[in-house]
Amino acid sequence: MADILIQNGQVVDTVAGKLRKADVRIRDKEIVEVKAGLAPADGEQVIAATGLLVSPGLVDIHVHLREPGGEEKETILSGGQAALAGGFTDVACMPNTTPPLDTETAIESVYRQALRAKAARVWPVGAITKGRAGAELAEFAQMVRGGAVGFSDDGVGVASSSVMAKALRYLEPFGKVLIQHCEEPTLGGGCMHSGYHSTRLGLPGLPALAEEIMIARDIELVRSIGGRYHVAHISTKRGVELVRQARAEGLAVTTEVCPHHLLLTDEAISDYDTNFKMSPPLRSQDHVAALIAGVRDGTVDCLVTDHAPHRAEEKEIEFVAAPMGIIGLECAVGLFAKALVEPGHLSWPKMLRMMTDAPRDVIGRPRVAVAPGNSADLTLIDPEADYTVDITGWKSKSRNCPYHGWKLPARAVATILEGKVKWEL
Ligand SMILES: [Zn+2]
Repeated sequence: MADILIQNGQVVDTVAGKLRKADVRIRDKEIVEVKAGLAPADGEQVIAATGLLVSPGLVDIHVHLREPGGEEKETILSGGQAALAGGFTDVACMPNTTPPLDTETAIESVYRQALRAKAARVWPVGAITKGRAGAELAEFAQMVRGGAVGFSDDGVGVASSSVMAKALRYLEPFGKVLIQHCEEPTLGGGCMHSGYHSTRLGLPGLPALAEEIMIARDIELVRSIGGRYHVAHISTKRGVELVRQARAEGLAVTTEVCPHHLLLTDEAISDYDTNFKMSPPLRSQDHVAALIAGVRDGTVDCLVTDHAPHRAEEKEIEFVAAPMGIIGLECAVGLFAKALVEPGHLSWPKMLRMMTDAPRDVIGRPRVAVAPGNSADLTLIDPEADYTVDITGWKSKSRNCPYHGWKLPARAVATILEGKVKWEL
């Protein structure tokens, strides 16, 4: 293994919210020195980082890797390589596979495949209920032993209040987070946000209320029972308000937002392009503004992609019938920079905290600052890349992505995991 010196970069301090010019020396798997003016030692690989940000490795805690059961869409290998190519050292994968990740064996098999893949680190999220059917609790204790970092029936929410109450009660002693896809099913069932555009296009709607009602119910359950609760891919104005109030009360409630909910509205669906179909759906501008306000005031903790690969044949059908979800790992840094840094909502260190420390806190993984003694997990970012997204060469197996041809202001240029350059532009 080569020793590395990253020279002249802007080191990101996510805690102080600052950048400082320094060199970073890596020996084997560890950061050993962070100081200005370090001279290269004999045999050291020098990475010139002038103009680049040197960030703690990025983490995306909401991705779908489709393995087992959907390997034609994505695998732990291809998804892990897509993650690296987007600057992510770590991802947490959702359990809506076939079969679902609802046993210790299934959780362990994710670790085994990730070890073989040698791509990004993968942290499996276990299912809340057996088969994600919403009725019977899955075996939490065994899955925690297997390494599950949290629990979710993502793709669907847990509809039953009594099952949700039991899940919070049983999970509490493990200290693991419960990640809810908030969608009250009897109010759901549509394929785009309920509003002017769904009416105009004649498409069945997914009301904001379906999300808000489940968030409100769950917060009441957390207040009464306890436990750690995380709202997946928040998309509504009232949802953000509810989380803000719960936090002000001191409840252990966190949330995350996706780039598409910050950059796009339901107006984009005007020509029935299924690359704008996902759950929760693209909403109206008032919701987008509320999400940005939630990011600005710290109500929203994490930035995630909800990377959801599908085959082209599956997506190239009528809008109503097409599956939900889009991919985005490989351009996430640029998308978030466009949504949050470019308009001046957040500084780079504040935005990167939402892609590093905050998500690590949610899934209970130790933070990795760019400081001596820490694992050399680093992402190099060009904050002034000004490039055009070209999905043709992406590592992901899927291409269901609305961002092809977009101009973005920034991008990841290298990903270092445990002292090894795993990907570079
Ligand atoms: Zn979801």
